[in-house]
Amino acid sequence: MSDHLMQNYTRLPVAFTKGEGPWLWDGAGKKYLDAIGGIAVCGLGHAHPQLAQALYEQASTLIHTSNVYQINLQEQLADRLCALASMDRAFFCNSGAEANEAAIKLARLYGHQQGITLPHIIVMEGSFHGRTLATLTATGNRKIQAGFEPLVQGFLRVPYDDVSSVEHIAKTHKEVVAILVEPITGEGGVRLPAPDYLNQLRRICDEKGWLLMLDEIQTGMGRTGHWFAHHHNGIVPDVMTLAKALGNGVPIGACLARGKAAQVFKPGTHGSTFGGNLLACRAALTVVDIIEQQHLVERAKFLGTRMLNGLQALLDNCAGVKTVRGQGLMLGIEVDRPCKPLVEHCLEAGVLVNVTADNVVRLLPPLILSDQEADTIVRTVSDQIRCFLHR
Ligand SMILES: *Cc1c(COP(=O)(O)O)cnc(C)c1O
Repeated sequence: MSDHLMQNYTRLPVAFTKGEGPWLWDGAGKKYLDAIGGIAVCGLGHAHPQLAQALYEQASTLIHTSNVYQINLQEQLADRLCALASMDRAFFCNSGAEANEAAIKLARLYGHQQGITLPHIIVMEGSFHGRTLATLTATGNRKIQAGFEPLVQGFLRVPYDDVSSVEHIAKTHKEVVAILVEPITGEGGVRLPAPDYLNQLRRICDEKGWLLMLDEIQTGMGRTGHWFAHHHNGIVPDVMTLAKALGNGVPIGACLARGKAAQVFKPGTHGSTFGGNLLACRAALTVVDIIEQQHLVERAKFLGTRMLNGLQALLDNCAGVKTVRGQGLMLGIEVDRPCKPLVEHCLEAGVLVNVTADNVVRLLPPLILSDQEADTIVRTVSDQIRCFLHR
């Protein structure tokens, strides 16, 4: 192992050398079923032939020019995403944190344009929005912020899934411009809010003229059984951020906006060198094509129900399991104690999972799983959880 990497990650002792669909192989030839998909990135699984072909063609034609010029594929991608999400305009960047940075800057500019000199954004406890200074400040996890003070000003924090504390701020605070919220928390432990939570936030934003900004970086691109998780609520946000599965592993993020929010950025107000280059946009356009052609949104819904039912049948009566929950292929099993070792136990058993918020086993498998592969994940993970809890 090289000593020349910064020591900011705790890495598992395995390196994968090859992938195909939901499968990964390590250097010794051992095969794993990938139930985490690069943390919600590889929705189409690994080495998807149609994506590989598109990337090859694009790389052999043109990878990058500059946002100084028109970029045809970027316009096509903006058209596709805006049509899918009922949004008006898109800005492209290279990661989730950058997409949220764009949203935060957009909200502040929106405030200033209305004469609010110290615009504030409401954010949630237990949220995750990224690791840049503004996004780690927006993140509701002290561990992620500790040591990076001074943090960025202009955020107000409230409990997740608590409409009344937002109502309270609406009555007392004069400088709020936006709410930034995840439809389901990802890193925060796969928490599903009340079914009408987003609808209530939408209503308050409408009443107050605030922007409803949804971080769909983990929940978007079909994962929850709709193209975007807020489609379960039948609402439209003012701003939505995407990244993760958008490029299936080719780095790309997007900040989409609608109505007044889509008018905020003017030439010179924001930018990115790589953002929305031809290769990244070709990847994302191909991802959208494949999701549509292979009906993967419907598939995520079907598989999600199947896996949730399977996990509940095997684990609901298991002492130490608190809840089995999820929407589509975003699933969490909460146990009554810290369970990080389960990541390695499942790895040994040939299934890749992740543990978040200390005691939640999280599954974010690719949308291209077969029924049988989904069942294998359910069985293996349930077995490992049972063993872990009843040693
Ligand atoms: C992963 C994630 C981010 C950050 O994305 P990066 O690409 O790691 O910067 C932000 N918000 C949510 C909800 C995420 O899951």
